[in-house]
Amino acid sequence: MADEHAHDHEQDETPELKVVGEEPDLSKGTARPITVVGNPVLHHECRDVTAFDAELAALVDDMFVSMYAAEGVGLAANQIGVDLKVFVYDCPDDDGVRHVGHIVNPVLEELPAGRRTLDDSPEGCLSVPTAYQDLARPDYAAVTGLDKDGNPVRIEGTGFFARCLQHETDHLYGYLYIDRLSKRDRKDALKQMAEGTPKYATVPNA
Ligand SMILES: [Zn+2]
Repeated sequence: MADEHAHDHEQDETPELKVVGEEPDLSKGTARPITVVGNPVLHHECRDVTAFDAELAALVDDMFVSMYAAEGVGLAANQIGVDLKVFVYDCPDDDGVRHVGHIVNPVLEELPAGRRTLDDSPEGCLSVPTAYQDLARPDYAAVTGLDKDGNPVRIEGTGFFARCLQHETDHLYGYLYIDRLSKRDRKDALKQMAEGTPKYATVPNA
């Protein structure tokens, strides 16, 4: 376990990261505007996907294009207003590996007691534009679920990618990272959001 504690947070300077996963065909999707805190679709558990069809594949394509348009490292379906359990990611870990992919109906694995090492680092969210706050999360995460064709998948990650897997799974169960902050930090995040201007299109709240 000592080695797990020892990793540092310096970014790898190598320009070309090793890629794990399949890069999407971006010619197929359309960027959609991002929902923000207060939109009801972000604040309840999304529905399980039951149809593994062309419509689901098209949703994944749109999610990748929307994530890149907003310069995010992960995106949940409800962040483009779709009430289904799907997320996409293109996210580096702390070991110089770039992880790219999607998962349907993800469930976060419970960590064995010995694996709960907390990493306290800044976190942000496309649905809380321009805000960042430190949040402690386990530095390892694994999610199990399905791919868009219905095949079982398991994704595990460390460091920043572990944070991403937890953050995106949270979205699909109706939680934003600000829901895990102290009252004071949450208020500060919402103030940062109110004072900032997102660099991407958002869905105005009613
Ligand atoms: Zn988010």
